[in-house]
Amino acid sequence: MSELVEFLRARFAAELDDIEGYDGGWNDADGCWGIHVDPEFTRADVQAKKRLLELHPHTTMRQDLGEARLRVAYGPNWEKRLKRVDDVFCTTCHVEDGVIESSGQPCETLRLLALPYVNHPDYREEWKP
Ligand SMILES: [Zn+2]
Repeated sequence: MSELVEFLRARFAAELDDIEGYDGGWNDADGCWGIHVDPEFTRADVQAKKRLLELHPHTTMRQDLGEARLRVAYGPNWEKRLKRVDDVFCTTCHVEDGVIESSGQPCETLRLLALPYVNHPDYREEWKP
């Protein structure tokens, strides 16, 4: 699960890296195809996707074990905590009757966020929504 979050963060960072130094216009640096680059749009797009990601935090704790144990996963060192367990929960998507349910899969929202990167070598088939 945390690998999907890491994957998304890496893709978002790469998108921002790609526009570094561009002030807009056509990018034909490779001499093949002209691609219209709108850095302002790209920055807004990445910012929106990052906010969507933040709206789907994950936890390793079930809510029915007590609110005090429900720690949103994006706090300090959240990746290290998540890597210690296999089963994590999206605190947004997997709530039923006040109890966070385990799906065993990354939540569909994050999987949809990753879908445009399906051809990236680090994309995993099991992430397909
Ligand atoms: Zn979710």
